[in-house]
Amino acid sequence: MKQVLLIEDNASNRKLLGDLLRHAGHQVHLAESADAGIELALAQRFDLVVMDIQLPGMDGLTATRLLRANPLTQALPVLAVTAHAMRGDRQRILDAGCDGYVAKPIAYKTFLAEVGRLIEAPTTTHKSTH
Ligand code: MN
Repeated sequence: MKQVLLIEDNASNRKLLGDLLRHAGHQVHLAESADAGIELALAQRFDLVVMDIQLPGMDGLTATRLLRANPLTQALPVLAVTAHAMRGDRQRILDAGCDGYVAKPIAYKTFLAEVGRLIEAPTTTHKSTH
């Protein structure tokens, strides 16, 4: 079971994304603000952060830059979730240090495929048999 930190201020999105992640077999930890999320990320080990970009106070891109700047969370995969689907946003999000990007409204399959890609990639050991 993988540990996923979901940072999302909107209650219905927390429910929706949380349910999708739990249904995929992951343990979900919730934060409603960037500050609370960063505090959690520094306090325990996670396999993935799902980061809403539009957050009250500190936004998700600033939070991602802070995670990237800290040796404890430097390598932690971050999947951005945003309502912004404007031209240039993808590059802005990747430049901030996010590893992937899914636009709202969330396409379930795309979201779970990105979660799977980011959660498996860095730590999976190669199988010795085929
Ligand atoms: Mn939001």
